Amino acid sequence: MDRDTDEKQSLKRDIDQKVFVNRNVTLENIKCYGFDMDYTLAIYKSPEYESLGFELMRDRMVSVGYPHEMLRYTYDPSFPTRGLVIDTTYGNLLKVDTNGNILLCSHGFKFLKGEDIHKYYPKKFIQRDDTDRFYILNTLFNLSETYLYTCLVDFFTRCTRYTKCVKTFHYYGDLFMSFRSMFHDVRDAMDFIHNSGTLKEQTIKNLEKYVIKDPKIPLLLTQIKEVAKVFLATNSDYNYTEVSCLTCPGSSKKSWRSYFDLINVDTRKPLFFAEGTVLRQVDTDTGKLRIGTYTGGLQHGTVYSGGSSDIVCDLLDVKGKDILYVGDHIFGDILKSKKRQGWKTFLVVPELAKELQLWEEKKNIFEEMKRLDVFLAEYYKNLDSGNQDCPDINAIQTRIKVLTYRMDMSYGQMGSLLRSGSRQTLFASQLVRYADLYSSTCVNLLHYPFNYLFMAPPVLVRPFPSHVHENKIRESLHRCMYEGFVAAMMCLCTKMIFCLLHMNCYEM
Ligand code: IMP
Ligand code: MG
Repeated sequence: MDRDTDEKQSLKRDIDQKVFVNRNVTLENIKCYGFDMDYTLAIYKSPEYESLGFELMRDRMVSVGYPHEMLRYTYDPSFPTRGLVIDTTYGNLLKVDTNGNILLCSHGFKFLKGEDIHKYYPKKFIQRDDTDRFYILNTLFNLSETYLYTCLVDFFTRCTRYTKCVKTFHYYGDLFMSFRSMFHDVRDAMDFIHNSGTLKEQTIKNLEKYVIKDPKIPLLLTQIKEVAKVFLATNSDYNYTEVSCLTCPGSSKKSWRSYFDLINVDTRKPLFFAEGTVLRQVDTDTGKLRIGTYTGGLQHGTVYSGGSSDIVCDLLDVKGKDILYVGDHIFGDILKSKKRQGWKTFLVVPELAKELQLWEEKKNIFEEMKRLDVFLAEYYKNLDSGNQDCPDINAIQTRIKVLTYRMDMSYGQMGSLLRSGSRQTLFASQLVRYADLYSSTCVNLLHYPFNYLFMAPPVLVRPFPSHVHENKIRESLHRCMYEGFVAAMMCLCTKMIFCLLHMNCYEM
């Protein structure tokens, strides 16, 4: 490493403390910071919390009549990834890219191979705007739901008491059940554990087990409050919000509210970023809502229920462009606040810590992928539209499939949240499009001064931050000719192994 590189390295923050930038944000111009609560300020322990969600939903399904055998399933955190799509017609779980091209498809726990995927989806593509049919599992809460639906499909597909007909339905005597009705039952169970308070009750009973107490959260809020206004906008109710905020070390019943200029509970995001709901005051002694719509100005120390983003701007006397909103929900927090209100956005992606760690650990795989790309370019270098030659690139394609598979498996059975091989997931493309900033935790804001200019790298069209490895690619160009030969030999060997293993569930 030369001196220049050394200096650059020493200027960089540790990767796990970094805030990543998609679009410039000048913190000095931010007059107001908004925070979501669940999974943003209230950080849940994973996989304990998802496991709890799964068990409560599973038990609910059994209590409404689903077979007792379901109780044998336990949550496996290595299976689900956020951002997957349920096809409610065929009961498949799909990983798709920005445009709806299928990257991975499972039916229960069985991963489908190329030709099987083709039977369901002849174009290997879904029209994901068809929201009646396709349901995107966007939130961290959805992880347990993703897994429960997979268990149900697995159970009904394998249980001999049920007969599977065509691609869609199961029969048991005169009982008829579709993948869609199963999906709705899972959704109902999910709503039930949230709305009945079952999940919150269990969480409060075992705060140590399910919630991370981070002393840096009160520190962050205190520091922000010295330079800007701060508000909380959560879909949770008042009582749960209070308990959650009290888990911050050093918070007391009196003090937690003082972190914020405005507290909005029951916000019903994403509706909050559109027409919103009636704004009411919360009686903080009883937790009950006061009657009538609140129409007055901001009262410090008052907690509000409902309302809208417009009301927040009016009460705090700030404009949308001056707000940085920090949340974990790509759709409800980030996409809507950006698209409907033009707020600056900061997406919390807790998975990023592991994603970055693996990205670093597996960089040899990534580099080989890039070298194969260069090798392909070499094949085609002297060919143009008038050329009839057709280079045999099967071996390279096969090797790319194997590398993609190896890379994905290191993240979990459904692979990375952000990519499959060199292709970006739908989640990653939404992150790039709607989140101005993103990081594994909002606490990472503490690593920057409040007048910091977050600057996006000046590039023509920006891919997902592969800059970590970008320098290496240049080096690899020089090595390419020699390694091309080695790669070709390896490709041939791999092709043989690959054929044996039938790993063609990976789409190219
Ligand atoms: P926030 O992230 O602070 O806005 O809060 C999220 C709230 O939404 C929590 O109170 C969750 O219990 C609730 N929630 C999350 N997912 C669902 C769902 O699928 N159905 C009903 N409530 C949900
Ligand atoms: Mg949240």
